[in-house]
Amino acid sequence: MTETPKVELMYLPENAEKIIEIAGRTAYASYDKIKEDSEKEFIRMIITRRHFSVLEHIVASFRISGVSRALTHQLVRHRLASYTQRSQRFVSEDNFSYIIPPNILQNQKALREFQETISHIQRTYKKLIEFGIKNEDARYILPNATTTEIVMTANLREWRHIFSLRCKPNAQWEIRKLCFIILSILKEKLPNVFFDFTLNEENYTATSKYEE
Ligand SMILES: Cc1cc2nc3c(=O)[nH]c(=O)nc-3n(C[C@H](O)[C@H](O)[C@H](O)COP(=O)(O)OP(=O)(O)OC[C@H]3O[C@@H](n4cnc5c(N)ncnc54)[C@H](O)[C@@H]3O)c2cc1C
Repeated sequence: MTETPKVELMYLPENAEKIIEIAGRTAYASYDKIKEDSEKEFIRMIITRRHFSVLEHIVASFRISGVSRALTHQLVRHRLASYTQRSQRFVSEDNFSYIIPPNILQNQKALREFQETISHIQRTYKKLIEFGIKNEDARYILPNATTTEIVMTANLREWRHIFSLRCKPNAQWEIRKLCFIILSILKEKLPNVFFDFTLNEENYTATSKYEE
């Protein structure tokens, strides 16, 4: 069904913004200016100067589920991130769950056709397994709609880049919603690193004037 992607923050260091400040001040030999809360002004300054490489010192990892293989195919195009995804070779897709795009969900005729086709594929997948076909070959009939689970790790510069592409109105609804959720989590945890992103919950978009 169409569902909200499930997102769990797996890893982010406690003092991430302080680490960024300490790393960044190496460039300016300004360690003497480090004080409680001094990271706020410093990080905002490096972003406005587009000195984004300083943000690469911190990574954040997320466990993502309840999303389609169509979405993860788009996600893994981001080459500077690391991924581990549920395997369709080692894990059976018997009775797989699936994502229905909202436009199909709202169109009765399209929905009926979509669900009949999915049911047919589910039956055929089962039969192929019964005929002795391995998961790795039976999966060739699975649709892009099949749900999956993926763990993704990226540094904060790359996360910013991903949000600037995938939270735009022209990104597809599913990846846009996922990235919006991840951005919301990171913006709450790291208000300075993502200070420039304005979020619009109505259509799950976000914009920044300091995109790369
Ligand atoms: C709205 C939208 C529609 C899209 N439609 C299509 C489509 O129809 N077909 C299609 O194939 N793809 C499509 N894509 C995917 C797109 O082409 C990119 O593959 C994807 O967005 C990853 O972006 P990226 O290469 O900037 O980022 P990442 O892989 O995340 O890399 C980050 C940055 O690192 C640098 N970088 C990374 N690798 C290299 C390299 N090898 N050489 C030089 N610099 C590098 C670049 O500056 C890059 O911007 C679409 C993406 C969007 C957002």
